[in-house]
Amino acid sequence: MSLKTIVQNSLKSFSGTNGSAAFSPTQFDTDVMTTYGRFPIALTKGRGSFVWDDQGRRYLDFVAGIATCTLGHAHPAMVEAVTQQIQTLHHVSNLYYVPEQGALAHWLVEHSCADRVFFCNSGAEANEGAIKLARKYAHTRRGIATPLIITAVASFHGRTLATVTATGQPKYQKNFDPLMPGFAYVPYNDIAALEALVAELDAETPQVAAIMLEALQGEGGVCPGDVAYFQAIRQLCDEKGILLILDEVQVGMGRTGKLWGFENLGIEPDIFTSAKGLGGGIPIGALLCKASCAVFEPGDHASTFGGNPFACRVGLTVCETVEAENLLDNVKLRGEQLRFGLQRLVQQYPDLLEQVRGWGLINGLVLQANATIKSVDIVKAAMDEGLLLVPAGPQVVRFVPPLNVSADEVQQALIGVEKALAAVVKQHHG
Ligand SMILES: *Cc1c(COP(=O)(O)O)cnc(C)c1O
Repeated sequence: MSLKTIVQNSLKSFSGTNGSAAFSPTQFDTDVMTTYGRFPIALTKGRGSFVWDDQGRRYLDFVAGIATCTLGHAHPAMVEAVTQQIQTLHHVSNLYYVPEQGALAHWLVEHSCADRVFFCNSGAEANEGAIKLARKYAHTRRGIATPLIITAVASFHGRTLATVTATGQPKYQKNFDPLMPGFAYVPYNDIAALEALVAELDAETPQVAAIMLEALQGEGGVCPGDVAYFQAIRQLCDEKGILLILDEVQVGMGRTGKLWGFENLGIEPDIFTSAKGLGGGIPIGALLCKASCAVFEPGDHASTFGGNPFACRVGLTVCETVEAENLLDNVKLRGEQLRFGLQRLVQQYPDLLEQVRGWGLINGLVLQANATIKSVDIVKAAMDEGLLLVPAGPQVVRFVPPLNVSADEVQQALIGVEKALAAVVKQHHG
């Protein structure tokens, strides 16, 4: 079969359910470790901004694999890239030069403040790399014997031991102690608290190696960073030789209407990480930094899968498609449309809803702190209306659709949320 036929068939064969053998949730729960609380549907097909479950039910997907499926589902450019690359060469290791890796690195360097890129497979892994890089920089360039990294309360940086320690949320750390030494926490968007902690930690001898933050806290409740806060941090870091690490895993790759989240803050980090949206749903992570702090040498850091031809070819396709389809403009317009519609719902339900916040196509509908209705109740009700949403903590419903979502789809989502709110309010008062 020719490549063209394969691609055409893969697009044509799409029609709702795939007719595979009946799926058993009971068997699934016996075989798969119970690390997730799953919603009771099994998704089997996707196209554009829609997914279908094994019963043939269609959902408008405003989760997009948790801010990951940048181009939606089965985008022709991705189908073609995946199909061609798997037929050509998919993995060889980093014992050799990998042209696709070089091409993606070059695109990223050309489209950001970074000079060097290291590839891995996930967000947590990219952040692990950032932590190692900052520690090595502190040891070798600043002579710091026990480097400390400051992170924020309510942050999220991943689930490996170092990144779960960096994550300023005790609920993710419980029962996994002893945690990694070398981390300290401050409240987010509070420059006085940060300056005070740096002064305290560096009082006798410099110890603070890096400050690691999200430009907008995603998992922590869709909290955008303050411009003045980040500009003051940049100045503080410059004065003290401290590295600024930005975790762009959720907000990078165009999600906020800028290619990188930090572009909304008018600053440049020394180190940043990318993952979720970079592969459009194919696993890939990247650690990026300025030449001045690229202190890794051969043997310092590695990944068997990292930067393989398959993941990098897909990553490059995602990047080039974001550019070719002017998706940053779409993100800005659709984001405004969504926030405007959600704002009206906040006015309609003042006892339940507090506000809408976010940038571009990462938005949070924030519930009143004293509301008995929780974000998951709204997510479930929306699912009944054929709309997929994801909580960002108990008080925030998160909207992270594909970046190529249409005006009509945003309109459909707003209707779905409105119906879900009506249903949930009726349930809780009836
Ligand atoms: C999702 C996320 C991570 C972790 O990424 P994984 O690919 O799940 O390891 C890290 N940081 C942020 C900001 C994230 O949103």
